[in-house]
Amino acid sequence: SEPSVAVRRLQAANQHLIKPSDSIETTCNFLDNRLVPSETSVWYDVHDPATNQIVNRVPQTTQNELKAAVESAEKAYSSWKAVSLLSRQQFLFRYVSLIRDNFETLAKAITREQGKTIADARGDILRGLQVAEAACNSTSHLMGEVLEVAKDMETRSYRLPIGVVAAICPFNFPAMIPLWSIPIAVVTGNCLLLKPSERAPGAAMILADLARAAGLPNGVFNVIHGSHETVNFILDEPAIKAISFVGSNRAGEYIYARGSANGKRVQANLGAKNHAVLLPDANIDDALRSLSGAAFGAAGQRCMALSALILVGGTQIYLDRLVKMARLLKIGSGFEEDVDIGPVISPESRKRIEDIIGTAEREGAKILLDGRKACPQGYPNGNWVGPTIISGVTPQMTCYKEEIFGPVLVCLEVQNLNDAISLLNANEYGNGCAIFTRSGVDALKFQQKVEVGQVGINVPIPVPLPMFSFTGNKNSVAGGGANTFYGKPGVAFYTQQKTVTSNWKEESPSNARVNASMPM
Ligand code: NAD
Repeated sequence: SEPSVAVRRLQAANQHLIKPSDSIETTCNFLDNRLVPSETSVWYDVHDPATNQIVNRVPQTTQNELKAAVESAEKAYSSWKAVSLLSRQQFLFRYVSLIRDNFETLAKAITREQGKTIADARGDILRGLQVAEAACNSTSHLMGEVLEVAKDMETRSYRLPIGVVAAICPFNFPAMIPLWSIPIAVVTGNCLLLKPSERAPGAAMILADLARAAGLPNGVFNVIHGSHETVNFILDEPAIKAISFVGSNRAGEYIYARGSANGKRVQANLGAKNHAVLLPDANIDDALRSLSGAAFGAAGQRCMALSALILVGGTQIYLDRLVKMARLLKIGSGFEEDVDIGPVISPESRKRIEDIIGTAEREGAKILLDGRKACPQGYPNGNWVGPTIISGVTPQMTCYKEEIFGPVLVCLEVQNLNDAISLLNANEYGNGCAIFTRSGVDALKFQQKVEVGQVGINVPIPVPLPMFSFTGNKNSVAGGGANTFYGKPGVAFYTQQKTVTSNWKEESPSNARVNASMPM
């Protein structure tokens, strides 16, 4: 059937998305609703992780170009904040529909640069789209409060935009994480500069073009590429009032500290080590299936991947079944529909993961399933790591202490639920966890005692839908998790409050006394 008008416009736009240079495709910045080639001499190659062929290059945007992007956003802000909320909401309605129309284009861009399977890429988009859909309801979240505080006197509160804001994104969810920021930042009246990961910039470029097609005025949403230099520019530029960061602890703690020291609001979601607790009374088959999907899906490159399994009260007898199940998962190019697990992002990442598996062996753990030699037919150069299961792990081992961010499940054994909770709570991270049990009493105890922000009960990846907020805690967030992403707190992050107190009393007699004390 004929492509929709929106798709045809997108395809036309995509022809300019990349401009040939030295025969390697080159990604442009997105400025004032146009693709603007960078004049830089510093480029980052973007690879297809299944082949390691270069698919395009992203610029280290120059200081002048970064400055121009901020000026464009500042200029846009003066009129965008005055656009009625209902018109901004109308933009979101159109945006949501265009994202739906262009699901497959987005999914292909994600698989090509990030490697995850097409099915998983669709999930990446869907989860972001749901944030955009929920943001259509920001009209309710932006409602202020009014209280009659005294006779003739009332106070009312408003939620107003904060100005130019920035988002710095990781490689692992090229659509979902930009969409944690784009819809909420702009519907609340801000102008957004978004820096995609230099390893997977394509989906953000399509999302920018769809925002243009949905009618967003010039400069309200610009995309600027680059690595540390772009981040440092964002951190130090006075016109940028707030920063949303998602990524590793190393980058995030630095960004939180420097951004906050420069007086900016920062929301920062960081790394994780998510535990699953398997109790003997669980529905074992369901639990093992859930564990396999959550440990190895997306090649373990999810911040909510279940990467540590605590086997309680003898449940290690099920490890053989888990190994058999994991062995059946097919690794390969994400473009092949029957593939379960794609490559990891880079050769460096693969080496890091393999090295950590090596430490487990040396430190006395047992490799029950070893993915180090995995290599699907036809893809000799990809970054392959197959599902790996390590048993006999202790909390002192490197493979337990590090966030591996690969398809590796480390397994520990304890006697009872209390021990499992203590072990889990001693971990520095607090992003997500899950318990598998048929006992409501044990599930409730677990829910109440674990110091983790997102708890699943027979649910392996308990990421809340966007009417709630993403609620990691401990070292999985910077700044104590005060500024969580999306939901009501997401709207609060992108707005500043103003309160107005008014007094409309009848005129006082002309001889009334001045009251110099604090009014009671
Ligand atoms: P990363 O920290 O390497 O990169 C994230 C962003 O920060 C990129 O845009 C990158 O250009 C920039 N960056 C990286 N190092 C920097 C530095 N030293 N100084 C300044 N900027 C820097 O993260 P990644 O490898 O892209 O993503 C994986 C990490 O993200 C994992 O740790 C994962 O747990 C985490 N993550 C967390 C969540 C969450 O919600 N908690 C979600 C997704 C990913």
